[in-house]
Amino acid sequence: RKNGSYSRPLFAERFNRLLSTHQTERKLQDKVALITGAASGIGKATATKFINNGAKVIIADIQQQLGQETAKELGPNATFITCDVTKESDISNAVDFAISEYKQLDIMYNNAGIPCKSPPSIVNLDLALFDKVMAINVRAVMAGIKHAARVMIPRGTGSILCTASVTGVMGGMAQHTYSVSKFAVIGIVKSMASELCKHGIRVNCISPFAIPTPFVMGEMNQIYPHLDSRRLVDVVHNVGVLNGANCEPNDIANAALYLASDDARYVSGHNLVVDGGFTSFKSLEF
Ligand code: NAD
Repeated sequence: RKNGSYSRPLFAERFNRLLSTHQTERKLQDKVALITGAASGIGKATATKFINNGAKVIIADIQQQLGQETAKELGPNATFITCDVTKESDISNAVDFAISEYKQLDIMYNNAGIPCKSPPSIVNLDLALFDKVMAINVRAVMAGIKHAARVMIPRGTGSILCTASVTGVMGGMAQHTYSVSKFAVIGIVKSMASELCKHGIRVNCISPFAIPTPFVMGEMNQIYPHLDSRRLVDVVHNVGVLNGANCEPNDIANAALYLASDDARYVSGHNLVVDGGFTSFKSLEF
């Protein structure tokens, strides 16, 4: 390097190295992804990650205003569509929108879900509430896979993701209805992976540990109405794993990027637990 400038060959070498690093980082170049529940939390972090890796992302969410704001924030490669995942027609429309807008659907991420505070005893179980949770957390996942498969099977390729939970890996986490719904998600993934593998479609899920998204904070607020929101975040994090490192939406987005990309071309029917080791050695005592 002379007078602060690079010689031509050295510049070319460094430029090419930079370019190739940049290209290898764009793991979803020209892929099209549909993510439910992407207006917020894990879905939004994943949409951001996918776009940064070259994908076009459809943000499908029941919250219209927040969804539109999120799409605007994420730029021209994000599009919002209103979608209530409890309505099969909304899911079907969102998939058809991917085809009409982008001609293909490479990645379907069934992420939308709701928490559910369980009564202290099964004797007091509210079955109407149980049905509501199953409609969003389980039935909608089946519907999402059904409609994604409808357009992926003819192309002979696709990656389907779902968000399960550590509560679907361990029972006894003071939230039986929610826990049942996430055990079901893992079951769906394993059984759908087996059916769809002959069509070149991979089906996987991610089981996150507690992350203080609006989803968890709403629930914590009900369990601990006397605590302010900063203290509630402490409670979520104080169940403490990996030297107290917190689980963040971006940790799940990284897992989703891996499973969605060709890096995971031989991975299907897998539940990728992202919990800092929690399910290996702890029990949750809220
Ligand atoms: P979040 O509240 O930030 O996001 C959930 C999104 O889902 C919201 O944008 C909401 O509008 C949307 N949604 C809710 N009902 C919907 C419906 N009927 N149709 C369409 N969209 C709907 O929460 P999050 O933490 O990002 O949750 C995402 C997923 O992660 C959920 O499936 C949840 O069960 C799972 N999960 C979360 C945690 C956690 O600690 N945050 C842990 C394990 C699993």
